[in-house]
Amino acid sequence: MHLSRRKSRKVWVGNVAVGGDAPIAVQSMTNTDTADAQATVRQIAELAAAGSELVRITVNTAEAASQVARIRERLDAMGCLVPLVGDFHFNGHKLLAQYPDCARALGKYRINPGNVGTGRKRDEQFAAMIETACSHDKPVRIGVNWGSLDPDLLARMMDDNAKLPKPLAADVVQREALIVSALSSARRAVELGLSQDKIILSCKVSGVQDLITVYTDLAARCDYPLHLGLTEAGMGSKGIVASTAALAVLLQAGIGDTIRVSLTPEPGGDRTREVVVAQEILQTMGFRSFSPMVTACPGCGRTTSTFFQELARDIQSYLRNQMPAWRERYKGVEDMNVAVMGCVVNGPGESKLANIGISLPGSGENPVAPVYVDGVKTVTLKGDHIARDFQAIIDSYVSTRYRAK
Ligand code: SF4
Repeated sequence: MHLSRRKSRKVWVGNVAVGGDAPIAVQSMTNTDTADAQATVRQIAELAAAGSELVRITVNTAEAASQVARIRERLDAMGCLVPLVGDFHFNGHKLLAQYPDCARALGKYRINPGNVGTGRKRDEQFAAMIETACSHDKPVRIGVNWGSLDPDLLARMMDDNAKLPKPLAADVVQREALIVSALSSARRAVELGLSQDKIILSCKVSGVQDLITVYTDLAARCDYPLHLGLTEAGMGSKGIVASTAALAVLLQAGIGDTIRVSLTPEPGGDRTREVVVAQEILQTMGFRSFSPMVTACPGCGRTTSTFFQELARDIQSYLRNQMPAWRERYKGVEDMNVAVMGCVVNGPGESKLANIGISLPGSGENPVAPVYVDGVKTVTLKGDHIARDFQAIIDSYVSTRYRAK
């Protein structure tokens, strides 16, 4: 299937291309205190190992800004070259000026036009940040957010709307204000000397339909690369479903050059979940491949035990855990498909469609598990070692099927 993308400029963020013909990039954001360099380095390394191609960190205080260069150095020393994006609000102009090593260490600055200041200060402070970006040759993301939309701009647009013979609904004006804020800020940045090839835009909102409407409109009105994300998506399945619903519609329409899934983790939860979900959105839609995928049936009354569920789970996590090493050694292994099926009804059929598939015995069936490799039944597993033997078959398949790099 050919999936076409909206034409956009290409922007380099460190060694990662965003937009143009570059693959849709996955990004994430830390939730550590950036002033705690050790904890922040650890989490950035985890996010990068999970596959985040850009990692955003908040730069909110002098203490945080003073640690950014150190964080970069430590990551480089570990061989973790993922570009860092500095998230600035309210005092970014001061921090970037006072900590030039921070300004240099970051791969991109995220500027929220609604949180740059008010009145004349707003223009001056925005200009100061853009001038720093120019002097350090850095790209910026002009990131507008529903929750922090420039209040002066919105009030002005609401007033103008009220004077129209047929005023538009307030939510229509609000959505237009988001877009106007992004586009007018980009125009101002260019007037201040920033190259158009250094600008990425985003207009994040928390409602699925609003996000689709805003980005569809924004995409038609500029050729800047667009960063997609449903802001404040929420926790657990709600956050995943809402993000996927919104992003899938836009990605299918060719809109979006980089994505983030803004999940609220459970207390003590794993921050890398947002990276995995973003990758799974892109992979299940056929845009990119990151890790072999497991096709598994949901199970039903024909499945005899939890063994089937355990095998599907264990194989999925085994494949993901192998990827850092496999990615280096085996070209194309990320496209591999493994089927783990619960009984003979759909088991052999799905197994034949996968690179490797196993069909476990359902209730009343012979306690044997036929394995299919490239559509051909090769062996029948039985006994207590089915999981171990199936994993060994996968290892052997990977080392022979995917050319060593
Ligand atoms: S493949 Fe078998 S066990 Fe799985 S859902 Fe279908 S009938 Fe149930």
